[in-house]
Amino acid sequence: MSQQETGGKLQIWLTVLCAVFLLAGIVSEHLFLWPNEVSVTFYILSYLTGGYSGFVETIKHLRQFQLNIDFLMIFAALGAAVIDQWIEGATLLFLFSLSGALETYALGKSRNAIHSLLKLRPSEGLLKMEDGSEKLVPIEELEVGQVVIVKPGEHIPIDGKIVKGQTSVNEATITGESMPVSKGIGESVFAATLNENGVIEIEVTRRASDTTVAKIIQLVEEAQKSKAQTQRFLDTFEPRYALAVVVSVILLIFIPWGVFGQDFDPTFYRAMTVLVVASPCALIISTPASIISAIANGAKNGVLFKGGAYVEHAVDIDTIAFDKTGTLTKGEPEVTDLISFDRDNEKFSEDGSEVLEMLAIAAGCEYHSEHHLAHAIVKKAEELHVDLTRVDDMQSTPGQGVEGKLNGHHVSVGNSQMFNKQLEKWNPMISEKADFLREQGKTVVFVVQDEIALGVIALADKVREDAKIVVSKLQSLGIKQIVMLTGDNKGVAKSVAAELNISHVYAELLPEKKVDIIKKLREKGVVAMVGDGVNDAPALAVSDIGIAMGAAGTDVALETADIVLMGDDLTKLPYLLWLSRKAKKVVWQNIAFSLSVILFLLVCVFTIELPLTIGVIGHEGSTLLVVLNGLRLLKKGK
Ligand code: ADP
Ligand code: MG
Repeated sequence: MSQQETGGKLQIWLTVLCAVFLLAGIVSEHLFLWPNEVSVTFYILSYLTGGYSGFVETIKHLRQFQLNIDFLMIFAALGAAVIDQWIEGATLLFLFSLSGALETYALGKSRNAIHSLLKLRPSEGLLKMEDGSEKLVPIEELEVGQVVIVKPGEHIPIDGKIVKGQTSVNEATITGESMPVSKGIGESVFAATLNENGVIEIEVTRRASDTTVAKIIQLVEEAQKSKAQTQRFLDTFEPRYALAVVVSVILLIFIPWGVFGQDFDPTFYRAMTVLVVASPCALIISTPASIISAIANGAKNGVLFKGGAYVEHAVDIDTIAFDKTGTLTKGEPEVTDLISFDRDNEKFSEDGSEVLEMLAIAAGCEYHSEHHLAHAIVKKAEELHVDLTRVDDMQSTPGQGVEGKLNGHHVSVGNSQMFNKQLEKWNPMISEKADFLREQGKTVVFVVQDEIALGVIALADKVREDAKIVVSKLQSLGIKQIVMLTGDNKGVAKSVAAELNISHVYAELLPEKKVDIIKKLREKGVVAMVGDGVNDAPALAVSDIGIAMGAAGTDVALETADIVLMGDDLTKLPYLLWLSRKAKKVVWQNIAFSLSVILFLLVCVFTIELPLTIGVIGHEGSTLLVVLNGLRLLKKGK
């Protein structure tokens, strides 16, 4: 509720003071029988302390010509004072203030759940100085390029790249996956993850304020502040509802008293009780209490929702489009075949110096490319100890390949779309060779110099082990359509799709085409696109919900997606659907419960003349129950 902004500690103190003054008032009035002025003074003090935060909120809203629930409470308490029901008025304010403080505490718990990550990040790192000595320095002082030593059993203080040593790292804080990952030289490590068994030296790649863990926390905080759809609706509904309550209450006073001549005091008292029980405190808090907890739960499991709206919207997903490479497959292709052609394209060779020469040119072209295939080709060249040829002016065409300049020649590596025109001029045996490799489910790229084919490289990527289970689980969770999109050739696409039982496959797509397909799919349903976020950014952006996977360390993915899976783990998808559905269920439980309590208490006011104090307890009690129900979503779950 709005009170939570007034600051937790102050509110607790004010609540305590409110109770103390209330008790003093009761004692002075009923025990010592002191003059009325004394007790009333205590009650007024109790009003002032108990009503302070609500008053501040009321003023804030009135300035925008809006009524809110705090206004209703203050109004009810003042009404009680008018008919000399000080104790009930003060009890109302006390309970209101108390439940406000408890809510602040409870919601703070969800908000801070993610902050525990920061506690895992050491505040100092062991810096290796240039003279070889070691020095502990605060992480804020670490600069990119410096080397930090991390011992076994310690948490890693900063994002970096291993330059010495070998270890296994538990990255649960970032990816939600607690199986240790083994890491060696050249691999990235993240601040706040646990170095399990080796001494490693890491080169700092990000300053303390830019680390992945710092970004996660920032994103989660922003997400928790943003509003879910239901909450937006309730927010616009609050002032109108409050106004309706005020008008009804005025009518409830004036019609029985003015028109029918009933006694003023009991009529007024009943109207005040209606005012309290009809206030929608529980209703207003129902959504944020649940969504904030769900976001925290997600973050602890390596799933970042970029806003409450996505927690709710994920429930509606009925179509999931997967990018193939790096999402359904491991994204770690390996070179399987290297075939070179002679100048006249008449002779093939699978070994010898021509093959290595071709590989050297290909790897030179690919050296600066971020593409999975590029990494595989460069790796192969390194394994075979081939010196990379220096290629200048490298340029890449997404979905096709790369090109550059080599000693005045134009060299390129890419798929058949890239060499559409040249293909016909080449010896047909080249296409046949390529087709033959594709039939084996391999990705084929051509290495070309000045329009002449130097050779082909075939690569194969493995399907992720859990992909098949995840696909069938998603289907059983009610996802109507699972689609695979890929820039790779049809042969590979079909073989992967067959293995995973995916019936809708679109292959040989340029990134723009992926966008068109997503748009088409969106005409029929709510589409989530799952991709690695680097070359899939446009498709992620046009989908209803863009889900980036394996995003730890890649900023682009963190920025373009709506939901981010930090780890490289497909099983987080069913978890994500489960969590959002559960959150939505809790939201609706809360809404239904709050409305029922309001109705029930209203009926009681008119049938059994419900006392104001009981009304207040019922009202505040239901608010707290709603918050606690929301907190259940913090539990780890599946
Ligand atoms: P996916 O849809 O599988 O993620 P991309 O759109 O990234 O694939 O690429 C599609 C195809 O474009 C690849 O299968 C490959 O044939 C070609 N390609 C893209 N980038 C490169 C590159 N750097 N080197 C060689 N081929 C590439
Ligand atoms: Mg891709």
